[in-house]
Amino acid sequence: MTDALTAVSRDQDQSLRERADKVIPGGMYGHLSAQRLPAHYPQFYARVQGARAWDVDGREFVDMMCSFGPMILGYQHEKVEQAAAAQRESGDTQPGPGACMVELAELLTERVDHADWAMFGKNGSDATRLCLSAARATTGRRSVVAAETSYHGWSSWSNKLADGSAGRPDPETFRYTYNDLDSVRAAVAQACPEKVAAIFVSPFRHDAGHDQELIDPEFAKGIRALCDEIGAALAMDEVRAGFRLHHGSSWEPLGVKPDLSAWSKAIANGYPLAAALGNERFRAGIEQVFATGSFWYQAVPMAAAVATIHALKDEDAVAKMQATGTRLREGIAQQADQYSCDINQSGPVQIPNLSFAGDVEFKKAMTFCGAAAANGAILHPRHNWFLSSAHTDADIDRVLEATDAAFRAVRATFGPD
Ligand code: PMP
Repeated sequence: MTDALTAVSRDQDQSLRERADKVIPGGMYGHLSAQRLPAHYPQFYARVQGARAWDVDGREFVDMMCSFGPMILGYQHEKVEQAAAAQRESGDTQPGPGACMVELAELLTERVDHADWAMFGKNGSDATRLCLSAARATTGRRSVVAAETSYHGWSSWSNKLADGSAGRPDPETFRYTYNDLDSVRAAVAQACPEKVAAIFVSPFRHDAGHDQELIDPEFAKGIRALCDEIGAALAMDEVRAGFRLHHGSSWEPLGVKPDLSAWSKAIANGYPLAAALGNERFRAGIEQVFATGSFWYQAVPMAAAVATIHALKDEDAVAKMQATGTRLREGIAQQADQYSCDINQSGPVQIPNLSFAGDVEFKKAMTFCGAAAANGAILHPRHNWFLSSAHTDADIDRVLEATDAAFRAVRATFGPD
């Protein structure tokens, strides 16, 4: 099978999809994050380096998804790989954690100003669940208040279906509208203020399938004050945004501190690790919670995380991502003008999102990302993209060549807006 746009073979990809259909529920359209992606979109990868990825058919891409966030310094980052290799030589899964667990907890509590303690897991869902457990154990309450289309992991309290809809609502979860303090007050009233264990919030609105929204500082301050008023925990979900906006917690520049925060994705530059951080008020509560996992204390990811967190600051990663993200945003805006496409670019430039006006069924976005993939850039039609500090200006220019072809494809298929 050849790629209709580039005449490049996609035989390996096709054969793996067919084999997956037989042995994986739903094949590549089931539990993997490949639902409703364009035909030219790569599904199986053979190799990654820096900001580039190669699929099983040897096609090369600039990766603007960064593995959905975990890659933040570039694939195979030298210092991270050296730290991981040194730890691997002496042990990874061991009878207990390595010394690097304590070093990592010290580093995180130093870097993140609300944090007095750290606990570790593997996935973002472990971290959000640890935060909720800490809130419930400390307050003796059960209910959770969270934004209506936000995703905080696949645990039942925040569960959503594969298409992003709410699924079966959890009776202990109450929903508010992001950046709308009155709606938080209404959700708290519905839940009964004395029953609310935690209000969950993300650093900005980054729900898949929606335009993103930056945080309104007044909302951040208001939600903090409301948590203080009712005695609930303010739990920040940093899984997606953590360390891309700021070297500490994302609302530090606003002067707003959560009580608890959940981290994963980027903290170990791709090694599997999650962390729940909290302040003193929640320490005794979480000490009572039984929480563990067979692989939670692997030493290699923790050594990788220590190296990652140092490298992020040493290499001024946030500023680099801001600069390249701005180059991408401005380049795309110019192209959209040139091709008369009405688009919206939203969210911070380090975690960008692109949508087409009126494209409720994502048809334009699919055409756009399919053509971008055929031209060497991995973007996503309904999920935000991610910058890393390994993306160079040359990488961004390469992506802009792909988006130029992608706008041309949208224009040719749908005409001018
Ligand atoms: N919270 C947010 C904001 C996320 O984006 C995600 C994952 N996309 C999670 C929690 C859950 O993380 P994981 O998939 O690692 O369990």
